[in-house]
Amino acid sequence: MAKKVTPLMKQYNTIKAKYPDALLLFRVGDFYETFGDDAVRAARILNITLTARNNGGDNIELAGFPHHSLHTYLPKLVMAGCRVAICDQLEDPKLTKSIVKRGVTELVTPGVALSDDILQSKSNNFLAAIHFHATKRASEVQQIGVAFLDISTGEYLLSEGSAEYVDKLLQNFTPSEVLFSKQKRGLFSETFGDDFHVFHLEDWVFQTDYATETLQKHFDVKNLKGFGIAHLESGIIAAGAALHYLGETQHKKLKHITKISRIAEDEYVWMDRFTIRNLELYHSNNQNAVTLLDVIDKTISPMGGRLLKRWMALPLKNTEKITRRHEVVSYLLDHPKVLAFMQQQMKGIGDLERLISKVATGKINPREVVQLLHSLEAIVPIKKEALKASNESVQGIGEQLLGCELLRNKIKETLDEEAPVNILKGNAISEGFHEPLDELRSIATGGKEYLNAMLARETERTGITSLKIASNNVFGYYIEVRNTHKDKVPPEWIRKQTLVSAERYITEELKEYETKILGAEEKITALEQELFSKLVTWMLQFIGSVQQNAALIAELDCLCSFAVHAKNANYTRPLIDDSFDLDIKEGRHPVIEQQLPPDNPFIANDVFLDRDTQQIIMITGPNMSGKSAILRQTALIVLLAQMGSFVPAKAVRLGYVDKIFTRVGASDNISMGESTFMVEMNETASILNNISDRSLVLLDEIGRGTSTYDGISIAWAISEYLHEHPSHAKTLFATHYHEINEMTETFDRIKNYNVSVKELKDNVLFLRKLVPGGSHHSFGIHVAKMAGMPQAVLHRANKILKRLEKSHSSEELTEEMKAISKEELQLSFFKLDDPLLESLRDEIVEIDIDTLTPVEALMKLNEIKRML
Ligand code: ADP
Repeated sequence: MAKKVTPLMKQYNTIKAKYPDALLLFRVGDFYETFGDDAVRAARILNITLTARNNGGDNIELAGFPHHSLHTYLPKLVMAGCRVAICDQLEDPKLTKSIVKRGVTELVTPGVALSDDILQSKSNNFLAAIHFHATKRASEVQQIGVAFLDISTGEYLLSEGSAEYVDKLLQNFTPSEVLFSKQKRGLFSETFGDDFHVFHLEDWVFQTDYATETLQKHFDVKNLKGFGIAHLESGIIAAGAALHYLGETQHKKLKHITKISRIAEDEYVWMDRFTIRNLELYHSNNQNAVTLLDVIDKTISPMGGRLLKRWMALPLKNTEKITRRHEVVSYLLDHPKVLAFMQQQMKGIGDLERLISKVATGKINPREVVQLLHSLEAIVPIKKEALKASNESVQGIGEQLLGCELLRNKIKETLDEEAPVNILKGNAISEGFHEPLDELRSIATGGKEYLNAMLARETERTGITSLKIASNNVFGYYIEVRNTHKDKVPPEWIRKQTLVSAERYITEELKEYETKILGAEEKITALEQELFSKLVTWMLQFIGSVQQNAALIAELDCLCSFAVHAKNANYTRPLIDDSFDLDIKEGRHPVIEQQLPPDNPFIANDVFLDRDTQQIIMITGPNMSGKSAILRQTALIVLLAQMGSFVPAKAVRLGYVDKIFTRVGASDNISMGESTFMVEMNETASILNNISDRSLVLLDEIGRGTSTYDGISIAWAISEYLHEHPSHAKTLFATHYHEINEMTETFDRIKNYNVSVKELKDNVLFLRKLVPGGSHHSFGIHVAKMAGMPQAVLHRANKILKRLEKSHSSEELTEEMKAISKEELQLSFFKLDDPLLESLRDEIVEIDIDTLTPVEALMKLNEIKRML
């Protein structure tokens, strides 16, 4: 027998069938309901009750929440990676006898979100689309197209390039959702990993003709030449797919997407994913870590915050453009009053970009329009001040900022200063703007006054002292008479309701006025809505102007932020030129220096690199001495300089850098296995294949994750390669293999430095100064001491080390090792014939102290302790 499905579930099933990949929120009365698997998911994510409902004999899971809680629950679903289809009632249930018509009004996905509850003000929310040029294997892919679209701000960018380049962009733009063709599922995760929320579109979407047409139609142009992207076929396909997806998710009002721009690969400093991660620029694997962005971000406006992140992801190479930013920072520092004024004004500017996007998408509310007005008003004095500036760029910003007077006046005359968020609350439209509205309002308020007058009159006429006029939903306005006065009620009053102690009546006059008042109130609401939506439609013509202002304010905000931080943190202006030198005097690490206590200030260091005399610096020193800090601060100083910021140093002169590579050796490949080491080597190989004469290479303990001899050989080979490579790429190499110091004898552009320490009687004092010269011995033992290794072991290790240090070639070293272990490796302590002590001995003998980090040493010690 066929199961009987209720009409409601039938309707649900039909709609759900259209959105199989989405979690469907189905509006039933005052609730949003989810069914089946959706309910199970929603209940888990939202921590709401899961119940069951009978559906034609079957039980189906059910979970729901009140419709007004949508704004709290929707972000949680989206942030958990769900695509959420919101299905609303499309007609008033009161007006229909059969089942209410329903339909999906919006599909919210992680990458397509407009709600403030989901968006973060200082971050973009990008949707990305990827197009793989038609080949089957990753290794054959020549060209990958990529597009980024933020529907909340209207930004729309595209680019194309190698897998590595696109990977880097994905790291830069951290999209919330990535689209690609269904058929490329395997290829995508093979190339870019599994860290993204992804969605697959049908293959046909990824076609040149379709994409071009989609874009041309959106921008209403005959071709795409005006955007300078016509030659980027793969990029266009990706961009088309992103736009197509907006349509699919019911986002059709997109007037704020006014242009599409190319991310020009050759304009920005190249940093690959390892570098972006290693340098902890704006995200870190460690939740609590402070990033560079956290430290330097002194922006005030949300647009400024977003732009600063973009500047950090895409540092410039063009020395002129860089210098122009430095000049503005200088100007602002020289004119602290101007700086303070600009920042003060910017506090009054809201998120212009997102506000105007809401105008385009029709999602703006009256209070936000007033916010937009205030933001535009705050720009007027900024424009005035900027025009007076003696710096050309600041003046330029002043010239380009638009007063938007027409727009401001119109908003001001249309909307009340105190306009509510919800238009239905009333009083959004200002008094005196629209005559019929004013009339209706006076009827509504006047009507109430009339009722009061009537009450007074009737009280007097009838002599009933406790007369009351009130209203309810059932029969509107009524007069209430206490039972004690019942006999005084005039005959023309019509009795409507009897209560325990009173009776309620209506009168002709009362009805008449009721109609007038209620009619007026209804009309007022409709009229306010109409006038407001007219205003919003009229505002569409200003999208471009407001976006232009938003971009200029963002830029000014970033430059002010540079100036403020430069002053607070004592930064200096770097000199950028076309040379190949990197000359840092008393450089500091921008993040670490902020975290040290005042009694332990950061020790500044000089670093000099060039192509002819000092191309590669080998930095040796014990663990924790500050090698990594020097490497990273060098990269961060270059990066800050090329973003246009001042730098944490006494003086810096640099020839602009085109690529920054960093690699950090795996710390523990013995436990992670051979593959990690191979990964490390592959990553390093990719540097060697991509370096240029302007590249900066930072290698931190490369080769650490293997045996000492392999490690030394690898470090040696890589350094040799870098030295012999025609690019003469500037390189900093931190290593604890002091054997590497011997390279200077053969390779004349390699120089040895060490991070100095002072050896006290039984301890080591970190001086943290980078000084010329190599290290003469390994400090692994020192670390073991810090980690609490037993004296006997340390003593023995020291002895072995002394012997090893005498040997020169690695063969000699190996022979020596053999000899040592045969001869006298057993410590007296271990000569006992106890099996436990024997295994303990084996355990200790196997430790490779040279490659041991302090943490590993501690862990090892713990292991040994547990054996006892
Ligand atoms: P290494 O790479 O030699 O093991 P790190 O560079 O990681 O050492 O530095 C270890 C710690 O020492 C850092 O976390 C920091 O707190 C501190 N440090 C490093 N360099 C300096 C410096 N120049 N001045 C003050 N403290 C420093």
